[in-house]
Amino acid sequence: MVRRKPKREMKKREGAPAGELALLERIRSRVGRSRGSDVVLGIGDDCALLRVRPGEEWAVTTDLSLEGRHFRLGWHAPESIGHRTLARGLSDLAGMGARPVAAFLSLGLPAALADKAGERNGHSSWVDRFLNGFLALARTHKVPLAGGDLAESPAAVADIVLIGAVRRGKALLRSGARPGDALYVTGFLGGSAAGLRRLEELARAQNLKRDDGRECLKIPGKLKAALAAHFYPQPRVAQGLALVRRGLAHAAMDVSDGLSTDLHHLCEASGVAAEIDASALPVAAGATLAQALNGGEDYELLFSAAPQARMPRALSGVPVTRIGRVLRRDRRRPMVTLLGASGERPLAPRGWQHFS
Ligand SMILES: [Mg+2]
Repeated sequence: MVRRKPKREMKKREGAPAGELALLERIRSRVGRSRGSDVVLGIGDDCALLRVRPGEEWAVTTDLSLEGRHFRLGWHAPESIGHRTLARGLSDLAGMGARPVAAFLSLGLPAALADKAGERNGHSSWVDRFLNGFLALARTHKVPLAGGDLAESPAAVADIVLIGAVRRGKALLRSGARPGDALYVTGFLGGSAAGLRRLEELARAQNLKRDDGRECLKIPGKLKAALAAHFYPQPRVAQGLALVRRGLAHAAMDVSDGLSTDLHHLCEASGVAAEIDASALPVAAGATLAQALNGGEDYELLFSAAPQARMPRALSGVPVTRIGRVLRRDRRRPMVTLLGASGERPLAPRGWQHFS
């Protein structure tokens, strides 16, 4: 008789961290059952089961967060890392105008972060605090954690998969921008990069050398508000949904790598060029123009709309700013031009790029 190897969502793996089963149980009990959503079956079987509503299609995105690359254990609180992991995926759904349906989370963790040894003096373990941040944002956006995986790893890794749904044919694509369109962004730009710069300065001042999570930056209370954009960015899910509902946008994407880079992506996909007005950019308080252009991790929406479209000043409470226009692609001019007080110059894609 063939014995089937038992499997489960949030599965046990060889080389799993100590106390992993207990951890899985904790996660399952905290997530609970996700009734009343499009998740027919969540954590607990080989697969989750999702319901497809008639007339909709799935939007699927995946994002990898790596210790030392996307976060530092000594700089970012576990709650912030959990929040940011989910925010990255939700922001991609927002960029398509999709409604979040389910999240799947895979974690690779050094044993010290995963087991109860991380609990001292009544404090929660690292992974419990990670989940606090993750699940708080999940509740805000009513997206259930429907599965995932767990393994021991030399460095902390969080991989998020988000499933969203959008009315068939209505997803906001990068490829829909037309010459003559106006360009808009939601919210403010550069706040996350300005926060990261502050963290770098603190780390230098506090002479923080190791980064295994045992030595942590001391963050002065008066900096908390200034660092919120970096630690707890808010994905613009409601704003993406509003753009679809009102039929306002021709093209859209989320600004995750930095406006200069993401606008190039949009122009490339649409076969157009663009110009933006430096003086019109909604630069976040405490940020520089360079950080607003190239900083990344703002998780705002960038979109184009017909020039005569009646754009509201805000979508679901978040301001919308007109920053420039879409032009015909012409080999005699750069793909993206920045108009400033001292004239115009080509705007190179200087945002976040891997392996560059
Ligand atoms: Mg994106």
